[in-house]
Amino acid sequence: MDAYPIIEHEYDVVVVGAGGAGLRATLGMSLEGLKTACITKVFPTRSHTVAAQGGIGAALDNMGEGDNWKFHMYDTVKGSDWLGDQDAIEYMCRNAIPAVIELEHFGVPFSRTEEGKIYQRPFGGHTLNHGKSMAKRACAAADRTGHAILHTLYQQSLRNNAEFFIEYFALDLIMSEEGECVGVMALCLEDGTIHRFRAHQTVLATGGYGRAYFSCTSAHTCTGDGNAMVLRAGLPLQDMEFVQFHPTGIYGAGCLITEGARGEGGYLTNSEGERFMERYAPTAKDLASRDVVSRAMTIEINEGRGVGPNSDHIMLHLEHLDPDVLHQRLPGISETAKVFAGSDVTKEPIPVLPTVHYNMGGIPTNYHGEVISPTADDPNRVVPGLMAIGEAACVSVHGANRLGTNSLLDIVVFGRAAAHRAAETVKPGEGHKPITKDSTEKAIARLDRIRNAKGELRSGEVRLDMQRAMQTHAAVFRTTELMENGLKKIHEVANSMPNVGVNDKSLIWNTDLVETLELDNLMGQAIVTLNSASLRQESRGAHAHEDFPDRDDDTWMKHTVMWLNDKNETRVSYRDVHMNTLSNEVEVIPPVARVY
Ligand SMILES: Cc1cc2nc3c(=O)[nH]c(=O)nc-3n(C[C@H](O)[C@H](O)[C@H](O)COP(=O)(O)OP(=O)(O)OC[C@H]3O[C@@H](n4cnc5c(N)ncnc54)[C@H](O)[C@@H]3O)c2cc1C
Repeated sequence: MDAYPIIEHEYDVVVVGAGGAGLRATLGMSLEGLKTACITKVFPTRSHTVAAQGGIGAALDNMGEGDNWKFHMYDTVKGSDWLGDQDAIEYMCRNAIPAVIELEHFGVPFSRTEEGKIYQRPFGGHTLNHGKSMAKRACAAADRTGHAILHTLYQQSLRNNAEFFIEYFALDLIMSEEGECVGVMALCLEDGTIHRFRAHQTVLATGGYGRAYFSCTSAHTCTGDGNAMVLRAGLPLQDMEFVQFHPTGIYGAGCLITEGARGEGGYLTNSEGERFMERYAPTAKDLASRDVVSRAMTIEINEGRGVGPNSDHIMLHLEHLDPDVLHQRLPGISETAKVFAGSDVTKEPIPVLPTVHYNMGGIPTNYHGEVISPTADDPNRVVPGLMAIGEAACVSVHGANRLGTNSLLDIVVFGRAAAHRAAETVKPGEGHKPITKDSTEKAIARLDRIRNAKGELRSGEVRLDMQRAMQTHAAVFRTTELMENGLKKIHEVANSMPNVGVNDKSLIWNTDLVETLELDNLMGQAIVTLNSASLRQESRGAHAHEDFPDRDDDTWMKHTVMWLNDKNETRVSYRDVHMNTLSNEVEVIPPVARVY
């Protein structure tokens, strides 16, 4: 391994990822006086957060309807189909208000009401008075909210002396023999050097793994690298069976049309021109939760009422809206619809289809952002030195189904919470513990193996096989047979990994190597997703199991926790959902059937 000289770095904290979650943590930790490094494989403002459109949820009540954080909490618990941890949900919905005001003060250019307050629009599943009417809770910067937040956080991080390692690809965690995380290994993409970052806290903010699927709204970089590093470190992932399909990906291209479009008055129709959501969700209609709308659309298509020559999509209408509203509130999606569907939204509907959008599952954490690895005696055991935030993490505030606007909120609230926690647990400038050679060699050996792989398959072919298997076998509707066949298929695909070859052996801007590392990362998560799904014999949130159509709270109101070894064998365990609140200002919300 001497062929790879190592460049050493020491920090109080190292954040991996510069999306909204990573940047909010980086900024917070710098503000707390901790020496902070942020490592990112893409330039910070190219992280997927930049693509977030519709808004960030917070019960600011700027539209004067009597909204408050308790209604937000109720909606989030209900949206999660009672798989969300209620302590964490209380934390998020309460802290939404100061966290969003703080963003405003950092300089996020939100759209404004006539009085100059932050503009708020309706979004799916967000209601007043426990479902009585739709709430206006999504704080928006037109339909470019993520863009506005990400740029502001990056500027503030630079202003507060955070150090950035841009276009560095994190390879693996460095774990001590006692199971503590002591840092991370990374490859500098520009010059091929290997770097060892030692830190008292390593924070994974590496985003979701939408690219395990064939059609998704997320960027090509969303390969869940942090989740895969956790699996390789012998730690588990949680609730990976819950994959959100967004109702309105553009047919064919997969690009997102924000739910904010329906928030502004857009609606869906089938081939008969019927506004079918009125049948499925008489109150919330087109603004029911995403799982509900995606299933309704799939049923319409499966029953022959899809649009087009192949009856395989649905129409989203915005042409009845005032062109000024489209221009002011939805300029980005108007352009996206023109480019990717050829539709002029002021004149004609957009063809849409449910598309993979968000991973509810991820690295289990508590509401401080600390990573959990449960044992038989302690379901909430913290892994020392390791945190996870954002879409990579499973806190779990989204449970079985995330509400729109709650992810931008999650990344900001828990990025901030992680910074607060690190300020309590890390002493600035404290010495680092010794590390063994072994702990870093594994990471380099994996890099070396993949770099020198001589197989005849291209990583792009294997990736396509994996993506097709996931698209077919871990889709909106699932059956026992479908998932069993899927498991066989995904293991076949995973077994073909040793036959992948990397042609380019250099270490400088080697995209062939990076894509193969990412594929290897995705594969483990695909296996865990399908395995977790095949075990859950009920329907809850995004997991719609046709052989078990009902939610079964007696047996299944619990989190799936799954480990994966280097032979691709899984081990499962379950954790109780936290049915307790943090304060006595609000009561636990007991499970009831979801009605829309
Ligand atoms: C099109 C679209 C629209 C959306 N709209 C909304 C919305 O309106 N409201 C809402 O609440 N949510 C929305 N979401 C969801 C939300 O935007 C994401 O869940 C959230 O932004 C994820 O943020 P993150 O910081 O966790 O990860 P990301 O923004 O994905 O950032 C991940 C970071 O990790 C880094 N990274 C990853 N792997 C490595 C590695 N190996 N080494 C180094 N760095 C690495 C990347 O460089 C990147 O900086 C949307 C999502 C999409 C795809």
